[in-house]
Amino acid sequence: MSCIDRKGGHLIVISGPSGVGKGTVCRELLSRDMKDIGLSVSATTRKPRLGETNGINYFFKTIEEFESMVRNGEMLEFAKVHGNYYGTPKSFVFDQMEAGKDVILEIDIQGATQVKQNYHEAVLLFIMPPTFEDLIKRIRNRGTESEEDIRKRMLNAHAEIEAADHYDYIVVNDNIFDATDRVQAIITSERCRRDRYILDFDSFTYKEEQK
Ligand code: 5GP
Repeated sequence: MSCIDRKGGHLIVISGPSGVGKGTVCRELLSRDMKDIGLSVSATTRKPRLGETNGINYFFKTIEEFESMVRNGEMLEFAKVHGNYYGTPKSFVFDQMEAGKDVILEIDIQGATQVKQNYHEAVLLFIMPPTFEDLIKRIRNRGTESEEDIRKRMLNAHAEIEAADHYDYIVVNDNIFDATDRVQAIITSERCRRDRYILDFDSFTYKEEQK
């Protein structure tokens, strides 16, 4: 054993209200070539949006397929969000963490609560909009949802924002690059926590023959 060993990878949960830019922050983070980090791909029963690819953005499933994954214990967490099921398949997450890699889960607050209950060491980050008006503008400008979907997401926004109280870190997304800098800094400091390491102090004992 070397004198300092890392204990597996971290589970990093990123949540925030619909339209806040979580996906953009995650993409920007991964494009920065941080070492040893991967993004989990969720399963969902939501229909693919224009430009979304199965296996890259999500694993698109029927309700029957999704429910069968839940029954078979294949999900780390799952929740119904805005009327559709979303869940994190366990296998990718555990394989990556065992290999010492950090895994980012971009999931809703119900899922984040389940993850924290089962994995106390998970780090929960909440992405906040600078203002409510800003959030509404972003959902509308995205132009990917129907009017009914937009309405649902705006009605859910208050409860989603309130959940920020239970997170470890808050990052205001006033600007995508600054917000990503802060997320990156949080991950870096979490990686430096003493309790993330196994320290072999004996290997630091001076022996005469080392002169
Ligand atoms: P969207 O439909 O906009 O891609 O995602 C809607 C919401 O579902 C977002 O808040 C997103 O974070 C959440 N979500 C995506 N994947 C998962 C997942 O695997 N589990 C949970 N609990 N929520 C998810």
